[in-house]
Amino acid sequence: MVWMFLGPVPPAAAANWTVRAQPARLVNGGPVLFQVKPPRRLESLNGKWLGHEISFSFDANRKLWFALGGVSLETAPGSYPLELTGETQAETPPGATITFTRKLNVARAYYPQIKVSLSVESKFTEPSPEQQKQIEEGQAVKKDYLNRVSREREWAGNFAAPAEAAISDVFGSERIFNGKTSSPHLGLDFRVPSGTPVAAMNDGTVLLARPLYFEGNFVVVDHGQGLLTLYLHLSEFKVKEGDQVKRGEIIGLSGGTGRATGPHLHVAVRWQGTYLDPGLLMRLSLP
Ligand SMILES: [Zn+2]
Repeated sequence: MVWMFLGPVPPAAAANWTVRAQPARLVNGGPVLFQVKPPRRLESLNGKWLGHEISFSFDANRKLWFALGGVSLETAPGSYPLELTGETQAETPPGATITFTRKLNVARAYYPQIKVSLSVESKFTEPSPEQQKQIEEGQAVKKDYLNRVSREREWAGNFAAPAEAAISDVFGSERIFNGKTSSPHLGLDFRVPSGTPVAAMNDGTVLLARPLYFEGNFVVVDHGQGLLTLYLHLSEFKVKEGDQVKRGEIIGLSGGTGRATGPHLHVAVRWQGTYLDPGLLMRLSLP
């Protein structure tokens, strides 16, 4: 576990707040675990970070507040404030708020620029009007569901790999479909044959389990605090929307449905509307 102590505490008002971030080096496209020890007992703790609202959960054993967040791929390197607002407990006057701001550095990630020439069926690069309609339906579903933020934390402990298999493509790489450069690869690919069991990366609730045009058979698990994991191209569903799942529980079987050049598992991590590197998320040591 690598914790970064974020420098000396400024005097006076800032006294006794302790803010730590994991990993020690924050990067664009990476997740971050915030750990906060406020100077008083709080009823609730909320934060603002890169334009996102963050709600912290209290860990009674460690007497610390935790929240998972992230940095979008588009975020430029620099120093960004984490603005904290805590609601104090009844005795100190009721409902009073205390605030604290800490600046955190974001460095540039070095995602490998692997350009691969793939050939996919022309229906995915030059869709017919009927296919265009299906694409738009899929976009509407994703716009609705993938930007939802359930504040309650459901994740617990580390995020685990969804399959025991080699990684065939990493987050952030650029890909070329039929000679046309597409947006960066926003997930992690596992080289698995069709029919391989796919496990939930953490505890959560199944938000989506349905076929979409590009994603194929598509499962999305909501882990709370705005964090979702996405599982694409499945051959079979093993869960339905609304199911509660535990880390390691089988949610489906891998396949090659949707826009896939062959059977593989594409997993993605979304936090409040932005894609994060699943590999970096799995490396965090989480409470
Ligand atoms: Zn992929």
